[in-house]
Amino acid sequence: MKKIRRTRFAPSPTGYMHVGNLRSALYTWLIAKSKDGKFILRIEDTDQERIVEGAVQIIYDTLSACHLQHDEGPDIGGPYGPYVQSERLAMYKPYAERLVQEGKAYRCFCAKEDAEVFDEEEPDQVLFGYNRHCRNLSEEEIAKNLAEGKPYVIRQKMPLEGKTGFHDIVYGEIVVDNAELEDQILLKSDGFPTYNFANVIDDHEMGITHVVRGSEYLSSTPKYNLLYEALGFAIPEYVHLPLILGTDGRKLSKRHGATSFQDLVAEGYLVDAIINYMAFLGWSPGEDTREIFSLEELREIFDERRISKAPAVFDYEKLAWYNAHYIKEMLREDFENYLRPASDAFFGEQDYDFSVLCDILQSRIQTRAELPEMLAFFKETTAYTKDLFYNKKQKLDPELSALILSKVLEATKSLADFSKEALRAMFKALGEEYAWKTGQVMTPPRLALSGQNVTPGGTTEIMLILGKEESLTRMEKALELLNA
Ligand code: GLU
Repeated sequence: MKKIRRTRFAPSPTGYMHVGNLRSALYTWLIAKSKDGKFILRIEDTDQERIVEGAVQIIYDTLSACHLQHDEGPDIGGPYGPYVQSERLAMYKPYAERLVQEGKAYRCFCAKEDAEVFDEEEPDQVLFGYNRHCRNLSEEEIAKNLAEGKPYVIRQKMPLEGKTGFHDIVYGEIVVDNAELEDQILLKSDGFPTYNFANVIDDHEMGITHVVRGSEYLSSTPKYNLLYEALGFAIPEYVHLPLILGTDGRKLSKRHGATSFQDLVAEGYLVDAIINYMAFLGWSPGEDTREIFSLEELREIFDERRISKAPAVFDYEKLAWYNAHYIKEMLREDFENYLRPASDAFFGEQDYDFSVLCDILQSRIQTRAELPEMLAFFKETTAYTKDLFYNKKQKLDPELSALILSKVLEATKSLADFSKEALRAMFKALGEEYAWKTGQVMTPPRLALSGQNVTPGGTTEIMLILGKEESLTRMEKALELLNA
């Protein structure tokens, strides 16, 4: 029988969920769920200095908003708990002590100031040197130091020659010279494990079959594998995920735009769009040229062997394209809830017809953040001149425009029922009476109301949103200009 896949998402609670982390969560979930495996959440909080209050809740909320439900985790428990590293502290020390007993690790008493020079916390640094001063201390020296109560860290004894290699599902074969590997710290002097140590112990203890994480850990993985071997643990499958860059080829940062799930949502991106877009950030379905996938559909076709090792480029335009798609698909009620805060903030005290606004915007916007710019003319029409009323296609000039506008104005004034149907009937009747084409009779009022040639929504819709009074005022003003 095949072993059930177990993957884990192991974020450090450091604040908002960065898109790189969210993509890790998504791929980790997909790798498990595409094979009906288990997806585990583990909170890596041993680096106490980086912890941000409330960040664990952000992790729960993000996973839940994205429907990346975990099967085991701090909030729901499971057979391999606790799922928070700081609650597992007692587990690490015995392993470290065992390695020391077996001569595979050693106590290092070097002063902290010295040790900081060769800090082990940057997992992607390989070429640096702790001078291995304590690697060959005599039993007496060790006993003396311990008797003096000198603080110490436990370091892994790396082989000094030979090579260590492993297979990564994305990056293929990776081989490093052991001589390049530092004697990394496993246990700090305060008894806390380093990430380097804790991830190996936890992944083993939790039965993780596939370790999925960012490519910044790729170069440290040989060190972890040596640890697995030293401890006699089975080495898991590795799936390292490519970096995410901005369109300028630099590492994605705030300079490029929103970089966290929370900021994207605040900018009006929908969860379905974000997830669908994220899936393609380093992966593609191969022959299948479809681009729209629900999470369930992704689960059906996801294959980690199709993850690309080329850096992924975060393209906000493409994300907006996905967003427009999912906005169009929204139920009307959901769209109303989505749009309401943006439109209320925009119109403020001004009366407006929300329903008509939804009619015109649902098929037109990429995010609600576009609303203020798109609707700017509802608040204020920028100054325009008579020239605006020349239109070749509609055979319009300021003179004919003035005539049309005066008739529309008159008819609008006498409309008892200011509704879509009534307005449509009014334009139709005017067209028939004066032999004006639809486009002809609609254009001058549109220009008068908006001051622009292209508008989201047609003339009647703009009139409805503005309301009767404001529509009349704007048309009167334009007529004055044309008659001047
Ligand atoms: N806690 C690590 C991080 O947030 C996770 C690395 C891993 O998945 O092994 O980057």
